[in-house]
Amino acid sequence: PPIPPIHPRPRVITVANQKGGVGKTTTAINLGTALAAIGEQVAILDLDSQGNASTGLGIGPQDRTITSYEVMAGEAGLAEAVLPTAVPNLSIVPSTVDLSSLEMEIASDPQRAMRLRSALHTYQSKQMELPNAKRLSYILIDCPPSLSLLTVNAMAASHAVLVPLQCEFFALEGLSQLLRTVDQVRGALNPELIIHGIALTMFDARNNLSSQVVEDVREVMGDKVYSTMIPRNVRLSEAPSYGRPAILYDFKCAGSQAYIKLAQEIIERERALRAVAA
Ligand code: ADP
Ligand code: MG
Repeated sequence: PPIPPIHPRPRVITVANQKGGVGKTTTAINLGTALAAIGEQVAILDLDSQGNASTGLGIGPQDRTITSYEVMAGEAGLAEAVLPTAVPNLSIVPSTVDLSSLEMEIASDPQRAMRLRSALHTYQSKQMELPNAKRLSYILIDCPPSLSLLTVNAMAASHAVLVPLQCEFFALEGLSQLLRTVDQVRGALNPELIIHGIALTMFDARNNLSSQVVEDVREVMGDKVYSTMIPRNVRLSEAPSYGRPAILYDFKCAGSQAYIKLAQEIIERERALRAVAA
């Protein structure tokens, strides 16, 4: 069967890193909120069976009836799975632990890596029926901490990959494997796929090691690294337990402000990409 195209809108960005605890979910939630605050229509797709993005946006277990599992299993369309959040202009496709068995269930499907892309294709056609102001402009996919079939599905369905990288000693370890996976997906499934950028997270200016890591990553990855760094900030880690993005919980804290700056930088990068394409 022919590979369904990825429509230019919404822009689909996968947030991926096979390491856990590096700030993927925090980035998806707060970047999504910041983009929504700027006036973009954003949906977060929770593709991690831990459901942290869903919880962090206040979606309780009772609200998770149609989830990313049903979408990936082909039992529901994306349009049926999208839920509004307390954040204006921000919606979410939640996940549950069901997702953890999905890979086994679809293992024998020759198109198993393209399931999300197919679902997005159908969804995009539905979006075209909506008035412009209601159409999504960004979808951020929050990935599990692995380079598994779920992450490959996300990459195959995306325009770009955003990599959160924690400013700690082993930051660069594993990055080459991640970049290799992106290359493989680009070669086999999705020729359009680019690295959108690398977001340095949990930066601690008082820690020499943190600064050294920043230097190393910038040397290796050059201008792929966003100039905005996300500081280590306790407000970012407190907010999810209130089911709110940090940007709503404490707008002024350094972490929220950094994510707002990162959103602006991402929009600038998007503009530059469009200018090149035109
Ligand atoms: P991942 O999705 O990659 O596993 P998370 O976003 O869940 O990572 O972050 C891991 C833990 O670190 C969470 O408890 C989160 O609240 C916390 N955290 C993430 N980013 C920051 C930060 N910049 N400062 C402080 N804590 C953070
Ligand atoms: Mg996570």
